[in-house]
Amino acid sequence: MEFLKILEDIYNEALQQPKTGQVATSMPELALINPDKFGLHLVTLNGENYAVGNADEKFSIQSISKALTVALAFSKLGEAIWERVGVEPSGNPFNSLVQLEYEKGIPRNPFINAGALVIADILVSELKNPKQDFLTFIREISSHETIDFNLEVAKSERQTGFRNIALANFLKSFGNIKNDVDEVLDFYFHQCSLEMTCKELAHSFYFFANEGKTKSGKQVLNKSQVKRLNAIMQTCGFYDESGEFTYKVGLPGKSGIGGGIVALYPKNFVIASWSPRLNEKGNSELGMFALERFTTITEMSIF
Ligand code: GLU
Repeated sequence: MEFLKILEDIYNEALQQPKTGQVATSMPELALINPDKFGLHLVTLNGENYAVGNADEKFSIQSISKALTVALAFSKLGEAIWERVGVEPSGNPFNSLVQLEYEKGIPRNPFINAGALVIADILVSELKNPKQDFLTFIREISSHETIDFNLEVAKSERQTGFRNIALANFLKSFGNIKNDVDEVLDFYFHQCSLEMTCKELAHSFYFFANEGKTKSGKQVLNKSQVKRLNAIMQTCGFYDESGEFTYKVGLPGKSGIGGGIVALYPKNFVIASWSPRLNEKGNSELGMFALERFTTITEMSIF
């Protein structure tokens, strides 16, 4: 298939779309990004790479990091992680507190903030130098040594993170945060501040498409574990729009409020997009458009 031509056509088509979405305003660093950046990167499992637009510019991956932290926690603890976080879609906004009360501090899934905070707590317990070890893991799975936290963003996360601070304390009151709340929050704020290009993002998610094995051959998770995490991405990866993304695109994936989306077709490819204008649900408007076009044109979706 002529992937480059397909990406170029989608890119040109996307530029004609109405620009109704708004960039995230929850932090100054995100609010100041040029809203019209747009890039796509595709990596196939036979090692081909195709890119268009601003695919080599770093952006804040934000909540996309949640898929990588849960992968690392799952690789360390296996099924035991599901005793502390569920696998059901939440049907509530990603930063909601309400369900936690009647579900006794067990977040619905690892992609809402409460769930990601529990996963952060697990990693703080499991890793010797949590932030550095997580970064090493990301660099290793992606084979990109320059991937790093953006410390200004991490600081801003802290300054504006009142809801996350509330969530972490609420979880602690149920006993579902074992470590010091501030240490867990510090880890979480750093993971959200990770910056990647579309290419780096696509490479980081390669193992989810490749039965748990990275591009360089490291087995991060086994086949069954990857199947499970892909299933959670499919049902919970796009905030309150996971059904819509499944309906339109038909691939497991994860989005973030920095405008990134990564989606994958097991045993075939990983595609990453970045466009900062978000729709009402917090997903990248052009990213959703581009990925829907991609699976429609190529007829490559898991459905
Ligand atoms: N740092 C953001 C938060 O915790 C992540 C938002 C996102 O990408 O969903 O609220």
